[in-house]
Amino acid sequence: MKKIDTLSFEELEQELVSLGEPKFKAKQLFDWIHNKTVDNFNEINNVSKKTKEILSQQYEFTSALIEQKLESKLDETKKYIIKFEDGNVVEGVYLKYKYGNTACISSQVGCKMGCYFCASTKNGFVRNLTASEMLKQIYIMQKDINEKISNVVIMGSGEPLNNYDNVIRFLKIINDEKGQNISMRKITLSTCGIVPNIYKLADENLPITLAISLHAATQEKREEILPVSKKYKLPELMSACDYYLNSTGRRLTFEYIMIKDFNDSILDAQNLSNLLKNKLCNVNLIPCNYVKESNISPSTNINIEKFKKILLEQGVNVTIRRELGSDINAACGQLRNNYLKI
Ligand code: SAH
Repeated sequence: MKKIDTLSFEELEQELVSLGEPKFKAKQLFDWIHNKTVDNFNEINNVSKKTKEILSQQYEFTSALIEQKLESKLDETKKYIIKFEDGNVVEGVYLKYKYGNTACISSQVGCKMGCYFCASTKNGFVRNLTASEMLKQIYIMQKDINEKISNVVIMGSGEPLNNYDNVIRFLKIINDEKGQNISMRKITLSTCGIVPNIYKLADENLPITLAISLHAATQEKREEILPVSKKYKLPELMSACDYYLNSTGRRLTFEYIMIKDFNDSILDAQNLSNLLKNKLCNVNLIPCNYVKESNISPSTNINIEKFKKILLEQGVNVTIRRELGSDINAACGQLRNNYLKI
């Protein structure tokens, strides 16, 4: 059976026409699916029974439910384990920032990138998520908090640029003004650096924010923790970033997780400044999360501040990521790993 909630508005129109139904019904249906976020045809009540019957012979809704939820006692962060109909689970996180309600969503079940410090990859790769499975993570959080999500970051498990078509489909549906109408400017896609798809994404010309998981400023060091950089080397990644900048005019974000005694020295800060000086970008310094399977600990606050100062002196924009939900701060993917063990 096909999934109704993975169709774009235009596809839904075409589908109705091909089933002998009037095109205008697409607007009502799209509203039920993507604003009222219903889970089945029965809940839809201003569309004729006949239309619903015709559709339900070929289409069904994507099923997703909250399998587990952790709520921070320190702030309003909530972490969810979301289960799909094949039994696979992913993590989603709700974060309340001053600028808006943010959903951090996953793009794949597991991940094949093998980054040394990341818990999402420790159990390998299972499968890509469909566009509707990405949408559902947001719809589920919205229902649970009973407020609208205004910002989305694709920074949960998975490498979004390795699930390119589904991610683009997701972006177009979540941005559709007849649906959730979340502005592209409020969406951030984070990648470890799949170079050919950075070029492809640049050519889509979507005003989203691209975040690059840089984490080290030299090829040598990057290779130690991000296996992907053996395939796509730092100079190639930087050229792709320049192409992205020049074609979209959008400021890039570089994420830099700070790992004690690995990438947090003065020399590391100088290398990073030299790499990014004169580029339209923000650097986001992130104290790394402890991951059981990786032998890493976060840099001290003093070192992070020193590091920041060096970047600022070189004219590089830099912020330190504020930690939310630190009491439930199982690192990215850790919650799912614990769930899988049980
Ligand atoms: N695959 C994409 C998106 C998922 S990871 C990417 O690599 O960007 C989202 C972010 O969390 C990345 O910047 C990733 O490097 C970071 N991350 C992973 N493990 C982490 C850890 N232990 N501590 C801090 N950040 C981590």
